[in-house]
Amino acid sequence: MAGEVDFDVVVIGSGAAGLSAAVTAHEQGAQRILVAESEGVVGGSSRLAGGIVMAAESRLQKEAGIQDSVDDLLHDYLTFNQYGAQIGPVRTLLRRSGDTIDWLQEHGVPFAPELIKAGIERNRRGHAVLGGGQALVDSLHRYCRNNGIEIALGRRVDRLLVRDGAVHGIAVGDDEVTAGSVVIATGGFGADLEKVAQFMPSAYEEGWTWYIGADGSRGDAIAMAAEVGAQLTGRDNGLRTVGPKFLPNKLNEAYQPGWGVMVDPQGRRFMDESSLYALVDQHYHHIGDRGFMIFDEAAMRPPAELADRYRSPYPLQFPGREPFRPRNYQPDLVDEMVAKGRMFTADTVAGLAAAVGLSEDVLTGEIERYNRFCETGGDRDFGKPAEYLLPVSTAPYYIAEVRPCTVNLTAYGLRIDANSQVVHESGTEIQGLYAAGECTGGVLARYTGSGNALANACVMGRNAGESAARHALSAV
Ligand SMILES: Cc1cc2nc3c(=O)[nH]c(=O)nc-3n(C[C@H](O)[C@H](O)[C@H](O)COP(=O)(O)OP(=O)(O)OC[C@H]3O[C@@H](n4cnc5c(N)ncnc54)[C@H](O)[C@@H]3O)c2cc1C
Repeated sequence: MAGEVDFDVVVIGSGAAGLSAAVTAHEQGAQRILVAESEGVVGGSSRLAGGIVMAAESRLQKEAGIQDSVDDLLHDYLTFNQYGAQIGPVRTLLRRSGDTIDWLQEHGVPFAPELIKAGIERNRRGHAVLGGGQALVDSLHRYCRNNGIEIALGRRVDRLLVRDGAVHGIAVGDDEVTAGSVVIATGGFGADLEKVAQFMPSAYEEGWTWYIGADGSRGDAIAMAAEVGAQLTGRDNGLRTVGPKFLPNKLNEAYQPGWGVMVDPQGRRFMDESSLYALVDQHYHHIGDRGFMIFDEAAMRPPAELADRYRSPYPLQFPGREPFRPRNYQPDLVDEMVAKGRMFTADTVAGLAAAVGLSEDVLTGEIERYNRFCETGGDRDFGKPAEYLLPVSTAPYYIAEVRPCTVNLTAYGLRIDANSQVVHESGTEIQGLYAAGECTGGVLARYTGSGNALANACVMGRNAGESAARHALSAV
């Protein structure tokens, strides 16, 4: 059949998943490959990514002397996701993760030699791409250009061609292209807030929610799934980050400054405020998605001897990058937000409580307790590391409401099996149809820290490209 078609393999979407699929399909022997991209630029959200990729047993990890194994990674992955991920494709993701880092390196993707803990895992598995997601995309794109893989920009695929239940091509309006197999790699749906409200409802807050990724993440895979009767899975999974939403959209602050004190709607502390962003997301799920950030004048205008501790209050830093600095909690912005009534200031903690309707006694007691921890250097409640324990004791005090406001990535989408083949409502696999990356569901789940999403895109993209090439070439 592939002999009668326009292309061996067509890939929809040119992010990390789509490019990994196209390059791999070529390496597996497919000659005629088309990547259709809706936007005018290659790379989707992948090119905006920080560039941390999770993997175990990569060459880089071994060279760094880190003892790790795919089995340990599997244990962590399933535990962190409370067994809410689909084990078949997850096994593929983790088993092929190390090898995929080696493969990316062989394709010129520049990685820092040192690995980081980009989440809550015990081992260092965060492989940092120097130059972020853009450098990763550039390397794979270069392979496509050098090897005759066609990339058609500005082509938003709106239909899959189906014959006898098998997918055999794509269409953009009346323009049809036939193929031996098709890989859907259209990314997430964060740019369509109606879909966020429907499929990731806990991330949707009228007036607060915005999406950090690329414009092309409109969830087109969901309509494609309906057309061919594909299963969808993973509702409400993905990653949100929280904040006071002082910054304009597109300016994100993923981490909370470690010197802040975060309280729930009862005025009680509920977490180590220096926790990594994926954990903060989980904590917010537990408190009903509304909290308050409290800090004092010392955090805004620190005395010289404490300036360094206030300036970069985050446990995670990326190799080769400038240290993260607080963005929402800058003195000028805070003053402006107070003036606009978006946050409050008072000379006492009780005054803060009164301003936002919290119990004055509870909040005062909670801050006094926290300040005692700062004196002794030990947070007996939530174990915040001593370096972030700075007292809230210099008036005036400040309080800001904090909610989930940024959709970082979505994880509801096409159900795939361990070969990245799309599964039909009937329980059979759809012939000729594969999917990878953020457009799939069940692979990423609730815990999406640690570089899991780029790993998902690259590893499962490779896996899909391999399966798609095998299918297309076996039909010749
Ligand atoms: C700012 C930011 C930082 C991040 N940092 C990290 C990180 O450090 N580590 C990590 O693991 N994850 C990170 N993520 C998440 C990760 O980057 C994404 O989950 C991953 O890159 C998604 O890859 P993808 O190929 O599935 O989708 P994308 O890269 O979004 O690619 C999908 C492509 O499909 C195109 N498309 C959509 N619909 C159609 C259509 N109908 N026809 C044709 N083309 C279409 C889109 O335009 C897009 O180019 C970050 C995300 C963002 C936004």
